[in-house]
Amino acid sequence: MNEMSPPSPKQAQAEAKTLGNWLSGPRVDALPSLTAMPAPLLSFEFFPPRTEALEAQLWSCVKRLEPLAPRFVSVTYGAGGTTQARTHATVTRILRESSLTPAAHLTCVGATKEEVDAVARDYWEAGVRHIVALRGDAPSGANGYEPHPGGYAYAADLVAGLKRIGDFEISVAAYPEVHPTASSPDDDLDNLKRKIDAGATRAITQYFFDAPTFLRFIDRAHAAGITVPIVPGILPVSNFAQVAKFSAMCGARVPDWMGTLFDGLDEDAETRRMVAAVVAAEQVRLLQANGVDEFHFYTLNRPDLTYAIAHILGARPQG
Ligand SMILES: Cc1cc2nc3c(=O)[nH]c(=O)nc-3n(C[C@H](O)[C@H](O)[C@H](O)COP(=O)(O)OP(=O)(O)OC[C@H]3O[C@@H](n4cnc5c(N)ncnc54)[C@H](O)[C@@H]3O)c2cc1C
Repeated sequence: MNEMSPPSPKQAQAEAKTLGNWLSGPRVDALPSLTAMPAPLLSFEFFPPRTEALEAQLWSCVKRLEPLAPRFVSVTYGAGGTTQARTHATVTRILRESSLTPAAHLTCVGATKEEVDAVARDYWEAGVRHIVALRGDAPSGANGYEPHPGGYAYAADLVAGLKRIGDFEISVAAYPEVHPTASSPDDDLDNLKRKIDAGATRAITQYFFDAPTFLRFIDRAHAAGITVPIVPGILPVSNFAQVAKFSAMCGARVPDWMGTLFDGLDEDAETRRMVAAVVAAEQVRLLQANGVDEFHFYTLNRPDLTYAIAHILGARPQG
């Protein structure tokens, strides 16, 4: 080490001030260690692929995540019921060719009760026992949602209809930041309660980015008499611009701090992915520290971020 000259009084004063600032800053306790917490229960959402190339991508995603032994994996149903055949094919392939338990999304849009019931009966006969029951949204270009004449009008009606067909396990949607067309937060909670009273045994939330938003929501849900699990839906964000646009439509708030974090990274996919992993890891660790031990990941058929974040939560390959 070189011999150094002592700091000038001015330098010494500046250094003392810096250290002084650090010493008087807020103290944040460390998050609890992983060994103090059970590995969480996981579930993953996929969408049904449109092309052979996307089918291969989905399948490699399924195989990568399979060893994490999720409780179930769900497959979405396209807006306006447009993916009925592809959703069915994906769900039954998962049932046949993996050890995973699939859950099929089903919506009320654009179909009579008889048509929806026929899809549900097909699932039951194929051995599928879990449905994610949703109202769905109007097809693009339509002027808001209108129930199909002769169809199930809302998700609560669909849940009741499904229960008449078979003793399905049924999950429904919940909105920590309130569904965009709900008349009030309390009405939205009443609607969630109606879905549970009709036979749903789990709610999965729309994605959100601020952990306290979710924690306040489950407090309100519990006060409203809801006792089934409300599983946080986690969206690892690798394409910020796209998520910001989509979030405006589905009522999920994108906090300013996220815009700042992704600022300047539009052309830098690699850094974006690293930032995305940190953002999601912080979110889930904070939820976990608050006692949440079940997570649903919106994978967008890409396994890497989900796998890494599940690992950080303590999930390890089984068997
Ligand atoms: C976890 C999750 C998965 C999803 N998967 C899909 C998918 O695969 N395919 C897809 O198309 N969409 C999907 N969506 C989006 C969902 O379809 C939309 O958010 C839709 O707008 C609402 O569906 P819901 O099941 O929550 O509707 P509902 O619970 O029926 O509620 C929708 C709105 O209608 C209001 N409402 C309910 N009952 C009544 C009534 N009797 N009279 C008047 N108003 C009423 C509610 O307050 C609420 O504002 C998903 C959403 C989530 C959170």
